[in-house]
Amino acid sequence: MSRHDPVREEAASIHHWYNPDNKPVNIAEGDGTSVRDTDGNEYLDFCSQLYCTNLGHSNEAVIGAMDEQARRIPYVSSAKRTPVRESLANQLAQIAPDNLSHTFFSISGSEANEIAVQFAREHQDAPTVLTRWRSYHGGTYGAGALTGDPETRATIERHAATSGAAKFLPPIPKAFDTDDPEELARQAGEHLEFVIRNEGPDSIAAILMEPVAGTSGAFPAPPGYFDHVRDLCDEYDILLIADEVITGFGRCGEWFGIQTESVDPDMITFAKGVTSAYAPLAGVIVTPEVASFVRTNGFDIGQTFGGHPVSCAAGSAALDAYSDGVIENVVEQEATLRSGLQEIEANHDVVSDVRGRGFLWGVEFADPTTGDSFHDPRVDEGENPVGDVIKESRNRGVLFGGGRPGFQIIISPPLIANQDELEQAL
Ligand code: PLP
Repeated sequence: MSRHDPVREEAASIHHWYNPDNKPVNIAEGDGTSVRDTDGNEYLDFCSQLYCTNLGHSNEAVIGAMDEQARRIPYVSSAKRTPVRESLANQLAQIAPDNLSHTFFSISGSEANEIAVQFAREHQDAPTVLTRWRSYHGGTYGAGALTGDPETRATIERHAATSGAAKFLPPIPKAFDTDDPEELARQAGEHLEFVIRNEGPDSIAAILMEPVAGTSGAFPAPPGYFDHVRDLCDEYDILLIADEVITGFGRCGEWFGIQTESVDPDMITFAKGVTSAYAPLAGVIVTPEVASFVRTNGFDIGQTFGGHPVSCAAGSAALDAYSDGVIENVVEQEATLRSGLQEIEANHDVVSDVRGRGFLWGVEFADPTTGDSFHDPRVDEGENPVGDVIKESRNRGVLFGGGRPGFQIIISPPLIANQDELEQAL
């Protein structure tokens, strides 16, 4: 093996930590919406890797901006000013809901959520954050405690922070036993109020939720749900934090997923798509009031690589690219995904539900004879053909992501995918 052939070295690696049960494709190259493995097989990348390669794999403007920044100055302390970081913060203030203005940069989505929680606790002088069952907010010590999907919890429960997070039920029919969207929104709102009152409103700093649930099922809230949540936050003086780590930057057809609802959050956390995954970057966008409170109360935290200049250059170029027709593409092509998936549901007994928004869709499978969801082999004994669907799709040249719980797959194409590619994947 040549010493300098990174592709072959990677193929021969026995030291890299991955889960062999998942039999991951060994991806060596990418181009637009496709990736190629070390054997030269090509796949449509319809999970955008981890819901993040939104602009595809060969955006020259982003690559060029990173290169230029690395040559100008690759790193400036996160505690100091530098133009590229300030430009990106200004761009974020332009696209965020009007009440949000100041960005604190971080590195990953987990860390952004932990920082938002620290800001909220500091501002509200209250210890608890409410999150939903069937949610994912990260896997680190603090963010792991916020995550409410049963599989991640089964893995990290022993190690996540044990206090400061309480869970409530998501607005899905299974949790409330009604299919009527308005009734579902009403019951889920009533339940949330019950949880707030029982936890003690004064002890709750924030409610943190994904505008459209991501890995745990790609389910949007029923109409009116977010109005109930906003009203409850206002009534009980609780901050609403939108976790936009997946839904941010066009995935749901607006800059931020919460903009597809009629409410403004008090903070937004973001990561993944901000740079279209060309470099790690995350952050929290807050109101001027929270920014000034946190700063003047001497709450002074930071991370060495928070707002890394090369990542900020990637972010700035990525945001320019999103405004150049990419979000419109999501809006225009959403109908292709929606109708194609609905047709699949109508024609296959084993598909029990499809739902989503923009370019984020979940397909749920159930046993057609009993109507029960398949078991998830990661937490249960039992049959689950969903892994076979993912494998067979891969054999036919399309990558999809597995949901958590594992009775569903998640479809999240790069936001540049065109109609032909969507139809091919469907
Ligand atoms: N929040 C959401 C909604 C996510 O989907 C994820 C990761 O998938 C995270 C937070 C954690 O982000 P990271 O993996 O960058 O720490």
